[in-house]
Amino acid sequence: MVLCALACGDDQVADMDGDDSDAPAGSGDGDGDTRDDGADDVFRFAGDSGAGEGTDAALTDDTGSSGTELPEPVVGDGWLRFQEVEPSEEGAVRLDVDVPAGADSMVLTLDPRTLPRSLALVALTAPDGELLYDFRDEETEFPYQPTSLRNANDHLPYSFMFPTNPQMRLQSGTYGVLLFVDDPSEPVDVDVVFQQLPGGDAEPRLGIVLWFADGTTMDAAQARDDVDFQDAVDGMVGIFRSAGIRIDEVEYGNLGAGDETLATVEGDADLAELIAELRGDSAQVLHVIFVEHMENEAGNTIRTRTSGAPGPPAHPSFARRGAAVIALDTLPSSIRRMGEVLAHEAAHYLGLAHTTEIDGSHDPIVDTAECPADLASETLPSGEEVLVPADCSDHDGYNLMFYRPPLGSMDQRELTNGQAVIMAVNPMVRWVEP
Ligand SMILES: [Zn+2]
Repeated sequence: MVLCALACGDDQVADMDGDDSDAPAGSGDGDGDTRDDGADDVFRFAGDSGAGEGTDAALTDDTGSSGTELPEPVVGDGWLRFQEVEPSEEGAVRLDVDVPAGADSMVLTLDPRTLPRSLALVALTAPDGELLYDFRDEETEFPYQPTSLRNANDHLPYSFMFPTNPQMRLQSGTYGVLLFVDDPSEPVDVDVVFQQLPGGDAEPRLGIVLWFADGTTMDAAQARDDVDFQDAVDGMVGIFRSAGIRIDEVEYGNLGAGDETLATVEGDADLAELIAELRGDSAQVLHVIFVEHMENEAGNTIRTRTSGAPGPPAHPSFARRGAAVIALDTLPSSIRRMGEVLAHEAAHYLGLAHTTEIDGSHDPIVDTAECPADLASETLPSGEEVLVPADCSDHDGYNLMFYRPPLGSMDQRELTNGQAVIMAVNPMVRWVEP
């Protein structure tokens, strides 16, 4: 079994499910979607914008239709694209997004283009004028919560999906969207992909491509022949099947032939470079890239990163531009756990947040159990008390999307109906008549 060549017994590595350089070693997650990240961003958002009156004015009007001319999108079948939108001096990008009749979900993606920069959703207004979300108002409990508050790193696009819980319905009509870019010196691109569920007997299906960066200890051909690896893939397929989503194709490919440096990711720019290798094709499938070793900006070893929750949807009209990235040298030795890691990352990409996050916050889905913070049994070196899966065995400790993987033989593969619905409405999922 080549997959666990190094460090699988190391608790610190084995506990890590992602990358959050702010989190204490051994407990970090983040796939770029932690509330901690968001909280930092609130700070940067207020700080970077200079707190001048102009900023307040520019970012206070959420309706987006008060006289200034808004960019016109190119409109395709089930998608829109706003090209080269100039942010305001304060970094505001204001758009009217026309949702076609019949659409059940949308994913909006803001691309930083060539300039590394922090991107976020500031406010969202429904066609009937209701303010659904406002990042600047921490007091109000808004009906909408984006799963990712900002891009997973400054080099990657930022995406948000609507809805993020099954109780919300996408309305047809014009949504007012206010986005923020922390460096307004170059234009941004924005696109929106819609999903319309066909009804009838159609069932949700998902295609996955597993890529192996050149220089890793396993390539596509070896993975296809490796019994353990195949069992892990089957495990992932089974977890999605339990949520009603059929993974109907799993393909294998080698990435970046001749460039063995891709096998080691050191920091955000490396990660973006790796993902950029995927550009050029637009098949509607979820991409997973295996590298050998991955570190965050702080030099900590991490297991996984995703291009956000959700990631930018692969779509026939857009070049592929996102992936879940997994480091082979940190994969758990248990085949069953490996399948859970694959499924966990794929579920992030389709838009699921952690049911319970390290900071005690919870996802926007109503039917996922919420583990009370006072059950926390582990004390970090910082003194902070955090939940481990076993603390939450009566709650969401067994859920696939608990923030932290279990130790020992505990499973973590349950998904609620609400989680299944949110994944199935993601525009990357194909609804097909059986
Ligand atoms: Zn995660």
